Amino acid sequence: MIKKIIHRAKYILPDPYTFLKNGAIEITEDGRIASIAPWRELSGPAGNGAVDWGAAIIMPGLVNAHVHMELTSLHNCLPQFHSFTDWLSQLIAKRQAWNLEHFRSSIREGIAQSLAAGTTTVGDVSSSGISRDLTSDSPLRKVIFEESIAFSPDLAVEKIADINRTLDNSKSGDLYEPGVSPHAPYTVSGDLYRGLAELARRRRLPLATHTAETEEEIQFLRNGTGEFRNFLNAMGLIPPGWKAPGLDPIPYLHSLGVLGTNCLLIHCNYLDRDSIKLVAGSHSSIVYCPRSHAFFRHRRHPIRDLLDAGINVALGTDSLASNKTLSMLDELRFLYKERKDLKSEEIMQAATLNGAKALGFGNRLGTLKSGNLADMTILEVPPDMGISNAPDRILEGAGECIGTIVGGRISWQKSDQPPVGNGLCPAKLNAKPD
Ligand SMILES: [Zn+2]
Repeated sequence: MIKKIIHRAKYILPDPYTFLKNGAIEITEDGRIASIAPWRELSGPAGNGAVDWGAAIIMPGLVNAHVHMELTSLHNCLPQFHSFTDWLSQLIAKRQAWNLEHFRSSIREGIAQSLAAGTTTVGDVSSSGISRDLTSDSPLRKVIFEESIAFSPDLAVEKIADINRTLDNSKSGDLYEPGVSPHAPYTVSGDLYRGLAELARRRRLPLATHTAETEEEIQFLRNGTGEFRNFLNAMGLIPPGWKAPGLDPIPYLHSLGVLGTNCLLIHCNYLDRDSIKLVAGSHSSIVYCPRSHAFFRHRRHPIRDLLDAGINVALGTDSLASNKTLSMLDELRFLYKERKDLKSEEIMQAATLNGAKALGFGNRLGTLKSGNLADMTILEVPPDMGISNAPDRILEGAGECIGTIVGGRISWQKSDQPPVGNGLCPAKLNAKPD
C-alpha cells in the first residue's frame, strides 16, 4: 500500500473560485495529490499520518514567474536614477564588482526569502551560470532561464553553442527544469533571438525575454534613437552598419519567430492594440511585475486589456534591484490595492495557475486537484474569519504564511508553529469540527 500523508486545515482553497470548509488533502509518497475531501471522510484509516494546520487556508503554491535570485543582495542599492538606462548602468557596475561568492549568497538568500513567503515555484533568470548548481538541491520548484546577451550578430553562433553546452549538462530534476532567456531586444541581436527561439522549440523549453518595458525601448526599435542608442554607443556595442528594425517590440519578436506557447514576455508595460492581438494569437504568456512597474513609475499597465484578450497573464516580483521583497503575497496585495478593475480571483489565479502554465507546467500545477503536483501555500487566518470572499480577505491582508509545501514535502514552516508530522492526535482535530 502506498503511504499517504494528510494535511488538514480549517479551509482548503483548491482554486480561487472554490472553497472547502474543514477539509483535508491526501498526498502520495511521490508528491502528488491523491484526493481532497472533507476531513471527516479522510480521517479514517486511509492515511498513515496527518498534519493539522489549524485555523489556516491551504491554497495552491504561489508561483513567482519572474525573478533574478542572483540580484537579491542589491536590495536598496539602486534607489536613485534619472532614467532606465542609468539604473541599468548602475546595476551593471555593481555586478561587475562582484565575485562568485556574492552571487552565491544572493541566490541562497533569494531561495530562503521565497520559501518563507510561501512561494513554491520560481521562474529564475540566471546570467552568472551558477543558479542551476546552487538551487538544484533546494526544496523549491524552479525553471532556471539561462540568460544570453549579445547585440552583435557576429556573436550569435557562439552564444547559441554556449547555451547548447549548458543545457546538455543540465538534466531536468525532481524540482528543476531548464529554460532560455534572450535578455531584451536592445541587448540581443535578431540572429541570436532567432537561434534561441529555434533551440527552445527543438528542446521543448520555455523562453523568457524582457520586452516592451519602456517607451525608450520602443523608440530605439522604431528608429534607432534615444537613450538606448546612447547607452549602447557608450559601451561601443552598436555593430557597424546596424539598422533599427523599424517595428514595435512585439511585431519585431513575432518577425523573429520568438512568440509561441512556450514564450514568456516579461513586463509588456507598453503595448498597443495590434501588439495585444499578436500576443493573444500566438498564445504567449505575459509576466507582469507590479511593484517593479511602480518602482520605475511606468504608465498604467494594460493588464485589464490583456486578460480581456484572453492572454495568460502571470505575475512576478522581478529582482530586489527594483523591488522591496520577493514575497508574492506582498505583490498580490499591492496589485489588489492599486487595481480596482481586477477581481481578487483573477489576481490569485495569475499568481498560481497562470504562472504554472507560463512556466510550462500546463495543468499539473496551480490548482489543488487529484493527480496534480502537491505544491501548497499555508496561510494562518484569524479563527473567526468566515468562508465568504476568502480571496478578498487574503488580498486585504488576512493570512500570514506559516508553511510551504513543495512536491508533497514541507519545505519551510514557521518555527513557532506547533510540531507537525505523522500521527496527529485525532482528538485535536475532532475538537475543531468547524
Ligand atoms: Zn527581469
